[in-house]
Amino acid sequence: MDRKKVIAGNWKMNMTAAEGAQLIADLKANCGGACGCCSAPEVMVFPPFTTIAAVQEAAKGTPLVVGAQNVHWATNGAFTGEISAKMLVEMGVNYVIIGHSERRQYFGETDETVNQRVKAALAAGMKVILCIGETLEEREKGVTEAVLEKQVRWDLADITKEQLENIILAYEPVWAIGTGKTATNEQAQEVHAFVRALIGKMYCPVCAGKIRILYGGSMKPANAEGLLAQPDIDGGLIGGAALKAADFIALVKAAC
Ligand code: PEP
Repeated sequence: MDRKKVIAGNWKMNMTAAEGAQLIADLKANCGGACGCCSAPEVMVFPPFTTIAAVQEAAKGTPLVVGAQNVHWATNGAFTGEISAKMLVEMGVNYVIIGHSERRQYFGETDETVNQRVKAALAAGMKVILCIGETLEEREKGVTEAVLEKQVRWDLADITKEQLENIILAYEPVWAIGTGKTATNEQAQEVHAFVRALIGKMYCPVCAGKIRILYGGSMKPANAEGLLAQPDIDGGLIGGAALKAADFIALVKAAC
């Protein structure tokens, strides 16, 4: 099945509004050639909430998607520090990352809250990049597939086949995020194939063929080509290398 590749930059808690706008200006100035202005794969950036408006302004007239790094499940209410889907949609933000391992590790996110966030985002008409991944301890114990199956089943609980069309999965082994360690092409492909087959069992074979599954975890220009050449890897969710225009452009070109 023909799946359009995605290159998505997760800026995490980096980039002021001025820095973010400058990064987009650098991308626009240098992202020529085969990728046009970042249109061959779908190219997305996920700045901090406070930087979104400046990045949207800088990205005007380009196909660059500007998304958010999280969303709360309620529409409004007493949830200090949280942002709702309604607020994001009002700003023209239509994509959101949910379930990133840093949210799960440092901010107590569980599969249950991830599922609530996914449901709220979809109900508001947003599209979701849903992150899953095992820790090093889990990989060494040989329970990677069991961990991923639990995450996928819980995080997608009550999500219909139709809604699944608005979800991209991101397999991000926790031990590879920000560590410089990358899963080998074979390790990543094996997991992606497993997750795709699981979607086939949970939904339908066509659903499995359609869903895009990104790899995340120290993806950089030096290793992107091999990872992106794997049959079940449909792009990358990129942290560190998304903060440098030259590296991000090289990743976009690797996905062309
Ligand atoms: C991420 O945070 O989603 C990520 C993959 O980070 P890095 O590329 O820095 O490992």
